[in-house]
Amino acid sequence: MSTQKYIVVGAGLAGCLLAWRLEQAGQHVTLIGSTQLPNASEVAGGVINPVTGRWMIKTWNFDALIPHAAATYRELEQTFGVKLYHPIPLIRYCQHSVDAKRMGKRMRNPRYADVLGDPIPVGEGPEALEDTHGSFHIKQAAYTDLPKLLQILRQHFSDNGSFLDETFIHADLQKDAHRWSYHQLQADHIIFCEGVGMQSNPWFNWLPLTPAKGETLILKCDTLDLPHAIYHHRKWLLPYDDHTYRLGATFDSDDATSEPTEAGAHELLESARSFISPQHTLTVKQHYAGLRPTTKDFRPFIGSHPVEPKLHIFNGLGSKGASLAPELIRQFLAYLLDGEPLDAEIDIARYTDSSPKPIDTDATH
Ligand SMILES: Cc1cc2nc3c(=O)[nH]c(=O)nc-3n(C[C@H](O)[C@H](O)[C@H](O)COP(=O)(O)OP(=O)(O)OC[C@H]3O[C@@H](n4cnc5c(N)ncnc54)[C@H](O)[C@@H]3O)c2cc1C
Repeated sequence: MSTQKYIVVGAGLAGCLLAWRLEQAGQHVTLIGSTQLPNASEVAGGVINPVTGRWMIKTWNFDALIPHAAATYRELEQTFGVKLYHPIPLIRYCQHSVDAKRMGKRMRNPRYADVLGDPIPVGEGPEALEDTHGSFHIKQAAYTDLPKLLQILRQHFSDNGSFLDETFIHADLQKDAHRWSYHQLQADHIIFCEGVGMQSNPWFNWLPLTPAKGETLILKCDTLDLPHAIYHHRKWLLPYDDHTYRLGATFDSDDATSEPTEAGAHELLESARSFISPQHTLTVKQHYAGLRPTTKDFRPFIGSHPVEPKLHIFNGLGSKGASLAPELIRQFLAYLLDGEPLDAEIDIARYTDSSPKPIDTDATH
């Protein structure tokens, strides 16, 4: 395999991990990402949950995704000597009797045997938490410390002199005979991992991104002593050390800003108060917000531009970046470096096959 030059744009989870894997594959990589622009990965809980949503459905491709995610985060831990990946029990609370019935049905389904554990009868969970309709264990859950992952990988590329902390100006990307040039840099390939920033990208902004705002709170509660687990009661409560918890997350497709809102904090606190016994006082320590790069069909945007085959996109991780990114990066690199076909479900060709999209020629020169 020959060494090629790559510019990766966007230093969130997708860009950092992809740049690292490219470098491991012996490629020459420059990572360009602004730490000043909105970033979903910095505010995410990094929760990996195999059974999600109102219908309590096993997450898309979970069986393939999780082993690879766990192995990747473990590899990073070993390489950089940090703790990133935290397997943790997850307890989901039923909201009403229909939930409890649905859960019983899932438990009888052999497809769910590896992800659903024992039910917890009403009254047998932690006293501080309301459980009128009972709860159940979800197996194979975890959380990944995404802010730490960004920190170590950005530092790694910075130490190599191959991280530029700046905004990428799309109009400055020029096409020469066989290569692309960007300011002083020359590259064979450009890979855009811009999260919701892709809406300003003239080559890929025709893809149907439907950003969804999310907010989380960091809470302190000195009196709340819960067994170590994620508690999911409409929102999830993720315990850290020292009686600190992360409570998340809201989901709002109408607000395109990435600033924390009073309404978001209110929604989260109301939810916590309906679940945690009132004798426990919750103090808000931090309030975060960000925009998830969610897609219209809930599948990622991966592949190459229909007209410029050396411009690529790796985006659309939605609300499940922590579980999706490692395995999807593996598939993307097999496509890019070894010429393997992309799965039709993730390939952006699903949007171009019937009607190829034009490019904004002003921006591409
Ligand atoms: C509140 C909230 C909670 C979440 N909780 C979870 C969770 O528990 N589990 C989970 O798996 N997922 C969660 N997610 C989703 C997760 O954050 C995303 O799936 C994932 O982080 C997306 O990573 P990304 O790298 O594609 O995008 P981002 O993290 O947004 O990174 C894109 C980067 O590109 C940069 N960029 C964009 N344009 C440019 C440009 N022109 N020049 C330079 N840089 C640019 C941005 O600055 C940014 O750093 C959550 C999201 C939110 C908002």
